[in-house]
Amino acid sequence: EDIIGLPVTTLIPPDRHDEESDIAERMRRGDRIEHYETLRRHRDGRPIEISLSVSPTRDAGGEITGASKIARDITGRKADAHRVSQLQNELLHATRLASTGQLGAALAHELNQPLTAILNYTGVLQELGAHLAGADGELLRDVVRRVAEQTERAGEIIRRLRGFVAKREPERRMQPLNDAIGEAIALSLIGTIDGGVRLKSEFAAALPAVLIDKVQIQQVMINLLRNAVEAMRDSAERTLTVTTARDGETFVRVSIADTGSGIAPEVAAMLFQPFVTTKGDGLGIGLSICRTIIESHGGRLWTQANEGSGTVFHFRLPLAPDEAGTRGR
Ligand code: ADP
Repeated sequence: EDIIGLPVTTLIPPDRHDEESDIAERMRRGDRIEHYETLRRHRDGRPIEISLSVSPTRDAGGEITGASKIARDITGRKADAHRVSQLQNELLHATRLASTGQLGAALAHELNQPLTAILNYTGVLQELGAHLAGADGELLRDVVRRVAEQTERAGEIIRRLRGFVAKREPERRMQPLNDAIGEAIALSLIGTIDGGVRLKSEFAAALPAVLIDKVQIQQVMINLLRNAVEAMRDSAERTLTVTTARDGETFVRVSIADTGSGIAPEVAAMLFQPFVTTKGDGLGIGLSICRTIIESHGGRLWTQANEGSGTVFHFRLPLAPDEAGTRGR
């Protein structure tokens, strides 16, 4: 009743009136418009976000006589999409911070040994140089002293890095595992599913809650999922299966199975060590971080070949004492 007899432009914000002539033009050509996102005017005058589909209507002879329009209010959907991208940013940020810390710890660990060795060797050089007379001897002693100084400085930087890294305390809370896993999948696979990866989630019903640092566990999931997707890049079949299940009386288990290349034999034996990678642009610290996180939760991370082709990564986490022994409430 509000609109009968009025021009359709009543519904269109003034700065979008030329949209209507475009639409009319396309209808005359017999085109359809599907899911075009734009703005229209609400009865009270405020703009609302809509998705517009328009198709020409024809008479019995096939002549175009008009157009039928469907405009869906997508305000809610827009807000959801915004919230998802916000969540994704927060998780990425947390992940990056945590990875920086872990990277620091791994670097400190790996560099400490060679630095100590360099210091020991310069000690030997200093002793040898002490007996050398003349200008050469003096130069040698000076250079060796500088080498020792710089090495100690590097060692000091590493020690500070370690101290900094040790500060982050995990925040553990009782969490429903399926929710945490589901969220991590949703956040890390956006865009991937469209890229031809088929996702199967097989979540056990009524899993007891676990005491976890959710961001850390999600970080593990994101690493494992990303590795799985990357391993399937050249596979004809690309299926990712994520399973959650009880594992005996006292554990829950999460498994991520891919149909990818399988573990390269040259890295298989040291897969979980830092800086082991087969990727040109890989850092090789993902799996070492994952293992550290899972073990700090009292769990275990391991891998096996997938039946047929590909790899399965499993991790298990202990149930809180009062949850253990209850069979899926
Ligand atoms: P990065 O991804 O930076 O190489 P990671 O520690 O996450 O570091 O992985 C180390 C290596 O383990 C990878 O370079 C790859 O060779 C192997 N890898 C990890 N996950 C998989 C998988 N799902 N399938 C096959 N190989 C894998």
